[in-house]
Amino acid sequence: MNLQLSAPLGTVAISKLRESIMTTKHENLVSWLRDAHAMEQQAEQMLTAQKERLHNYPKLRTRIEKHIEETVGQRETLERALTRLGSEPSTLKDMSGKLMAFGQAMGGMMMSDEVVKGAMSGYVFETLEIASYTVLIAAAKAVGDTQTQQDCEAILQQEIAMADWLREHLPELSQAFLDRSDTPGLEAKR
Ligand code: MG
Ligand code: FE
Repeated sequence: MNLQLSAPLGTVAISKLRESIMTTKHENLVSWLRDAHAMEQQAEQMLTAQKERLHNYPKLRTRIEKHIEETVGQRETLERALTRLGSEPSTLKDMSGKLMAFGQAMGGMMMSDEVVKGAMSGYVFETLEIASYTVLIAAAKAVGDTQTQQDCEAILQQEIAMADWLREHLPELSQAFLDRSDTPGLEAKR
């Protein structure tokens, strides 16, 4: 009889302990969406700075302008997803530690005012975005959030298109940079 009485109490204690050490799928999805939101804020800042520096590479500048518009739309889509899920966007400040580590991995290329290095770091950043949205699609699927899944699939296509464009244009861009560098009186790096 005594054992029967204490059994439910033990069960409650164990389930409380489990709750305290576990993270729900919903919580992980929200946390990753917040990371992605900060990543897009960072993207907007970097692309805008990169665009403003560019003078002699109109094709790249135009493609970056297009991607800035897409990036703003992506950030707004993530904000709507977070609101739907009962959360709110993280700020860049929340993410600064993570992004700083990322920046260090890029070896100062991010802040470079040289067009080829800028395009290279842009490509690396797009690849990070591709990985992020691939993870988010799986997480949205896992919680059955079809809207977020579809939104992230649409964003993923934009990131893939930008990464592909940069990779495909690196040879042409490098050639143009090298030619300008080699010509007296022409500025090459931006
Ligand atoms: Mg993006
Ligand atoms: Fe992007």
